[in-house]
Amino acid sequence: MGKHSPTAGWTVPAAEALRVTSTGPIADFDPSSTPGFDGDKSTGAEFLAERGEVLADLQELLYANGRAGDHRSVLLVLQGMDTAGKGGIVRHVGGLVDPQGLSIKGFGPPTPEEQQHDFLWRIHQALPAGGRIGIFDRSHYEDVLPVRVHNLVPKSQWEKRYELINKFERDLVAAGTTIIKCCLVVSKAEQKERLSERLERPDKHWKYNPGDIDERGFWDDYLEAYQAIFDRCDSANAPWFLIPSDRKWFARLAVCELLIAALEGLGLDWPKADFDVEVEKERVAALDD
Ligand code: AMP
Ligand code: MG
Repeated sequence: MGKHSPTAGWTVPAAEALRVTSTGPIADFDPSSTPGFDGDKSTGAEFLAERGEVLADLQELLYANGRAGDHRSVLLVLQGMDTAGKGGIVRHVGGLVDPQGLSIKGFGPPTPEEQQHDFLWRIHQALPAGGRIGIFDRSHYEDVLPVRVHNLVPKSQWEKRYELINKFERDLVAAGTTIIKCCLVVSKAEQKERLSERLERPDKHWKYNPGDIDERGFWDDYLEAYQAIFDRCDSANAPWFLIPSDRKWFARLAVCELLIAALEGLGLDWPKADFDVEVEKERVAALDD
């Protein structure tokens, strides 16, 4: 155990406190809040270290079951405005577990090949195999975010996508994938800060995209597009969570906690050996030193 005060910690489970049905509309959400968690940055860091070990153990259990033929998997969908910290979650939460058990995929503008298929085609191809935790850095929801905000396809087309997404996710869940959808919420002020830092530091120039400034000009349209997603594509089986992300330590802790809850929900046990343990013990004991 860490040194944090015994009263610090989650007063409400993350999966309850952060669910879009509890948080209220994204437009009124405070990106520097820590819903459900009582503690500061240093207690948060201690919690993350402790909970990271729990996550790593659960991930190993999932992986072991996958190796034994279990088709179940977990899919973490990350969305959020530019600079919200999606990459940081991949590094710092994904980094808590064995990389062999992860399948990470980022989605940019569709390639010419992808454009020749329906919008879910590339998503199908990137789904995690049994035993894996898949992380999507952006996802099929881009097809109702920038696509909606800029009418990259006619409204009559993107309108239909909410239902297509719901059906796709229902099928996915039925086939054994646990889906957790997290929208990292950053404030405009914090985004400005992070953009400016990207320019100040040559080691961050690679992350700077001049187009991000243009997208910022559509902030309210994005909030509306996000709200439409939460209103239309949140369900008990494929829930959406709002992750306040002005404080990176909290965003990481929160996503770690949601992953733990998802994995615990699978109720996994170590797979039974497909060999006779007693016979193998005798054989090993009989080996030369
Ligand atoms: P980044 O996450 O910084 O690598 O940027 C990826 C870019 O690809 C973002 O500007 C996304 O909005 C954009 N993008 C991802 N998927 C789509 C899509 N289906 N349609 C249009 N733009 C997309
Ligand atoms: Mg970017």
